[in-house]
Amino acid sequence: MAKSSVLGYPRIGENREWKKALEAFWAGKLEESELHKQLQEIRLNHLRKQQDKGIDFIPVNDFSYYDQVLDTAAMFGIVPKRFAYNGGPVPISVYYGIARGTKDAAASEMTKWFNTNYHYIVPEFYGAQPTLTENKPLIAYREAKEKLGIEGKPVILGPFSFLKLSKGYGRSEVDSWLSILLKLYVQVLQELAAEGVQWVQIDEPVLVTKLSNDDVARLRTVYGKIAEAVPGLNIMLQTYFESVDQYKEIVNLPVQGVGLDFVHGLKGNLSAIRQYGFPADKVLGAGVIDGRGIWKASFGKKLELLKELQGLVSADKLLVQTSCSLLHVPVTTKPETKLQPELKNALAFADEKLDEVVLLTQALNNGEASVAEALASNQSDVGALEQSSSRNRSDVQSAVARIESQVPARKSPFAERNSAQQEKWQLPLFPTTTIGSFPQSTEVRKARQSWRKGEWNNEQYSSFIQDQIDAWISYQEEIGLDVLVHGEFERTDMVEFFGEKLEGFAFTQNGWVQSYGSRCVKPPVIFGDVAFKEPMTVEETVYAQSKTDRPVKGMLTGPITIMNWSFVRDDIEREQIAYQLAYALRQEVEALENAGIGMIQVDEPAVREGLPLKEEEQKPYLDWAVKAFRMTTCTVSDTTQIHTHMCYCEFHDMIDSIEEMDADVISIETSRSHGELIHSFEVNTYKHGIGLGVYDIHSPRVPDVQEMTNMIDRALQVLDPKLFWINPDCGLKTRGKEETIASLRNMVEATKLARDKF
Ligand code: GLN
Ligand code: ZN
Repeated sequence: MAKSSVLGYPRIGENREWKKALEAFWAGKLEESELHKQLQEIRLNHLRKQQDKGIDFIPVNDFSYYDQVLDTAAMFGIVPKRFAYNGGPVPISVYYGIARGTKDAAASEMTKWFNTNYHYIVPEFYGAQPTLTENKPLIAYREAKEKLGIEGKPVILGPFSFLKLSKGYGRSEVDSWLSILLKLYVQVLQELAAEGVQWVQIDEPVLVTKLSNDDVARLRTVYGKIAEAVPGLNIMLQTYFESVDQYKEIVNLPVQGVGLDFVHGLKGNLSAIRQYGFPADKVLGAGVIDGRGIWKASFGKKLELLKELQGLVSADKLLVQTSCSLLHVPVTTKPETKLQPELKNALAFADEKLDEVVLLTQALNNGEASVAEALASNQSDVGALEQSSSRNRSDVQSAVARIESQVPARKSPFAERNSAQQEKWQLPLFPTTTIGSFPQSTEVRKARQSWRKGEWNNEQYSSFIQDQIDAWISYQEEIGLDVLVHGEFERTDMVEFFGEKLEGFAFTQNGWVQSYGSRCVKPPVIFGDVAFKEPMTVEETVYAQSKTDRPVKGMLTGPITIMNWSFVRDDIEREQIAYQLAYALRQEVEALENAGIGMIQVDEPAVREGLPLKEEEQKPYLDWAVKAFRMTTCTVSDTTQIHTHMCYCEFHDMIDSIEEMDADVISIETSRSHGELIHSFEVNTYKHGIGLGVYDIHSPRVPDVQEMTNMIDRALQVLDPKLFWINPDCGLKTRGKEETIASLRNMVEATKLARDKF
C-alpha cells in the first residue's frame, strides 16, 4: 500500500492569525504566555486538519515562531555574540532580536530560501559554541501525540544544508563544524528514537545544487554516522525544488527513505530513476503534488507518473507526497468568492493539496474506480481552465509568435543613441534623478482606500493624485534634480498596479503566503494569456510632464519582475509568459512615447529571483529574460531614453546579461553592498549609462553630503564620467517627506561638488 505524506504546512493561518499574534506581541500588546497559547492553537488546528483529511505522515516541527532555519540555529544555541545570551533555551527576546534586531544589536542577515520568495535568517557560526538547548522536534512530536493522538513525523533541517546555508566560517572549517553539528543531531535523533518516533524527515534541499566530491564524501560520513548511532530510527532524506545533483550517490546513502521532487525536478529525477533504478530496501517519497504552485494537479497525468514510479520501487515502499513544504502556497481557496468559477475550480492551495495527496493515494491503492467521481470532477475542472477563452487568445498568441521570431533591437547601437540623446536632452554632467516613487503618506493611502471603497469617485481621486504630483514636481524642481518622476502615488504595489490593468490576471482575496517573518504577500495570479487593454501610466506621466520643463521619466514594471512576483500558470513555459508580458508592456512604452514622454524606465528588480538553481539552466533563463526586456523597449526612437532599475544586490555574476538588456541608463542599488558592486561594473567594463545608488533608502537617516561624495568619488575612479548618473538606491515610497527632501538636497549638493572637480 502506498501512503500519503506532507512535508510541511503553512504557518500563517487561514486569516493570518499567526502574523497578527506575532505583531501584537512585538508591539507589546500581547503577553508572552498569550502568544504561546495562540500559536499553539494555530499549530494544533493545522495538525487536526491534516489528521481529518487522512494524511498518513503528518509533519511536526514544521511550525515556527519566525523561520525554520532560525529555529535550527536557536535549537543549537548558535546565537551571534552581540546578543546577550548565556546558554539554555534561547529566550524569545533573543530569538526575535536575531530576526529583527534590537536597539543595541543589528539583526542577522536575511536571504532568499533557494529560488522561492521565502526568506530565512542566516545563522552566524563565528564564535559559536553549539550545544543542544532544547529538542524542538521532540517537543513538537509529544505535543501532537498527547493533544491529538497523532504519530507525527518530526521535520528537521539536515546538518549538511544547515551548515551550507549559514555563514561565519571558512572553507577549512567545514569538516570540523560538521562534526560538531553531527553530535548534536545524533543527540536529537537518539532522543526521538527513545521516545518511539518511527520516521524523521531530514530536509537536505542543498542536495539539488552542485555537489563536489568532497560534499558527497561528507554526506556519506554524516549519514553513515547517524545510521550507526541511531539504528532504530527511519530517516527520510528529503530533497526539493529541483532534481538531486548526484542521484546515484544520494539514493545509496544509508537512510531508509529518499524524497525526490517530481514537479520542479521532474525531468532530472525521472530520467535518473529510469536509468539507475531505486534501491529495493528504501522508501521513495514521490513529490508529485506541487508545493509551490497554486494549480490543481491533473490527476490523470499524476497517476500515470505514480504508477511508473510504483513499478520501480518495492511494494509498500511508495509515498505520495507534496513536492516541498506547503509553506509556499496560500492556505485554502475556500474564502475566494470573487474569482470566476473556471479559475477558482482550477486552484488548489494547501488544504486542497492535502485532499489531492490523499485522493491519489487512494486511487493507487484501491483502484481508480474507487474515486471515480473525484477523478472525473478533477478532469473537468482542469480541462475547463485549459480550454477557456482566456487561455486561448489567438490575437495574443499570434502577435507574440510574430515578435518572438524577430530579433528585438533598438534602431541604432548605444553609442549612436547616446549622442542623439545628449543632443536632445542637453543634460549636465552627472545627471541626477530618483527611482520613481515618492513617500506614500498616510494621506495617500487613505485616499486610495476611500476611492477603492467607493467613498470617493474617480474625479476626486484623480484630482487628489494630481495635487500630489503638483507638489512633488515643484519639490523636485526646487531641489534641483535633472530628470523628474511623477511619484507613483496611484500605485500600491509595482506589480499589482499593472496586473489590475492588464488582461489575464486575477487577484485573490486571501491568497497570502509568508515572505519573511510576519510579512506576507498576496501575489497576483497570471491565469490567462496576458493582454494590453489601454494605457496604464500615460495620464499621470503626461500630467506631470505638463507641469515642468524638465524631462519626466515614465515608470513601468518590467515583464520578468511582474512574472517573478506572481503565481503563474503552469500549462505554458515561463518564457512564453514573459514574452506575453513584454508584448503588453511594449504597447505601454509606445503609448508613453506617442504621448511625448521621452524617457521611460522599465524596472526589473526581480530578474535575479527567477534564476534557476541548476547552473546549466541559468544562461538560457537570462537569455530569454533579456530578450523579454528588449522586446518591451526596442521599438522606441533613438532619442527616447530607456532606463531600467535593479536592486537587492548580487548582480555581479550577471553583468553581461544586464549589458545585453541594452538600456540607455541603469540605476542600481549600491550603497548596501558598500560599493562592491562598482567594482563588478568596472571589471566587466559596462559601457552604458549607469546611475549608482549613493544612499540607502531603507532608513530615515539623512545621509550627509560627505558620505555621498565618498560614494561618488569611489565610483568615478572606475566608471566613465560621461555615462555616470546620480540617484538614491531605490524608490522612496516608504520614506517620510522631510527626510526625503533633505536627503535629495544633499545628493544634489554632492553632485555639484563632483561636477566642480571635472
Ligand atoms: N519604481 C519603483 C519605485 O520607485 C521601483 C521599486 C523597486 O525597485 N523595488 O518604487
Ligand atoms: Zn529598487
